Amino acid sequence: MATFPDAAAIAAMDAQDPLRRFRDHFVLNEGEVYLDGNSLGVAPRAAYAELDLAARQEWGGDQIRSWNKAGWFDLPLALGHRIGRLIGAAPGQTIVADTTSINIYKALHAAIGLRPGRTTILAEAGSFPTDLYMAQGVVSTIPGAVLKLEGVDGPSIEQLLDDNVAVVLLNHVNYRTGLLHDMAAMTAKIHAAGALVVWDLCHTAGALEVTLDAARADFAVGCSYKYLNGGPGAPAFIYVAERHLPHARQPLSGWWGHARPFAFETGYEGAEGIRRFQCGTQPILSLRAMKASLDLWDEVDMAELRTKSLALTDLFIQLVEGRCTGLGLTLDTPRTHPLRGSQIALRHENAYAVMQALIERGVIGDFRAPDTLRFGFTPLYIGFADVARAVAVLEDILRTETWKEARFAVRGAVT
Ligand SMILES: *Cc1c(COP(=O)(O)O)cnc(C)c1O
Repeated sequence: MATFPDAAAIAAMDAQDPLRRFRDHFVLNEGEVYLDGNSLGVAPRAAYAELDLAARQEWGGDQIRSWNKAGWFDLPLALGHRIGRLIGAAPGQTIVADTTSINIYKALHAAIGLRPGRTTILAEAGSFPTDLYMAQGVVSTIPGAVLKLEGVDGPSIEQLLDDNVAVVLLNHVNYRTGLLHDMAAMTAKIHAAGALVVWDLCHTAGALEVTLDAARADFAVGCSYKYLNGGPGAPAFIYVAERHLPHARQPLSGWWGHARPFAFETGYEGAEGIRRFQCGTQPILSLRAMKASLDLWDEVDMAELRTKSLALTDLFIQLVEGRCTGLGLTLDTPRTHPLRGSQIALRHENAYAVMQALIERGVIGDFRAPDTLRFGFTPLYIGFADVARAVAVLEDILRTETWKEARFAVRGAVT
């Protein structure tokens, strides 16, 4: 019989949690356990005041003057610096711009440009699909370029590396299983083959410690609306290693990336440094909501964040295995800490209906086709008692088979 912590032990874990104070800074619904911060982070309370200020005083009052007066024009760079600290990037290499999809396009093009004569892009077949779609788009614009996939064209990235590979696009944490790559080791292998790497940090930024500079990463991209709580549709970020900045070129040569945008010249000349990775005007209101979140992130110790994240996911696994054996669940996330991000994936034959039943009972996770129940653990606002509550509800739904009720089979457009 498996043993697992009781309510008192779990309350003690919450009492000793050094990140506990952050929870009060977020808007959480009473009676719910929100385990979907890996899809859309919850609202920081301070975002409302920040949005109100930006909309009323700056947009409403100061109008066009706010581009200078309120620092709107420099926000992408300023916020990029702050995200840089969270991903182990020294200042001047990270900027907030566009979407992750668009930034993948820019980074892959730039990387190929830095490896003349090489025309292969490698990626994982299990990547988040937009990564593959964007890589396909890049290939369609470069004569002779090909995309090869781990899991389709060969069993591993290592076996597909040859002297025609220009760039490897990797999801640092797999969006479905939560499997985590060893960034430094993979980067070294890719460099040894003469290629460059683009790390997709969508499930890393704000979820765990990472050190892009120390790992010698070349490029990285990621979104801010998941673990970073930047708000729905908040723009993404892109990192370009300092050593590549003088030579890296991106194809979306819009005016915000121009050396002198307000000279309104006829010809494009890219700005110095990371500013060149911008394209056009950014959504200022979204950036301001993100700023409110980054004000909190500035105070977070990333080592503490990782320790808590692993403790949350360990507890979830322990409770599921202690309470839900024989109920049709299988763990799809590695138990080994160095291989685990900040989410747990469980498989169940009727995962869609089980998740709908969980959501109705206030345990918010999500479903990924065909049979994955996904639970994201965001250490800034999820506690250990939340984990226990989520597993208790999951156990009850499976034992009573309430998920079989007809209403849980109805599918919405977004799962
Ligand atoms: C969420 C996610 C994206 C999303 O890209 P958008 O352009 O913001 O829609 C891309 N890649 C990965 C790995 C993701 O998890």
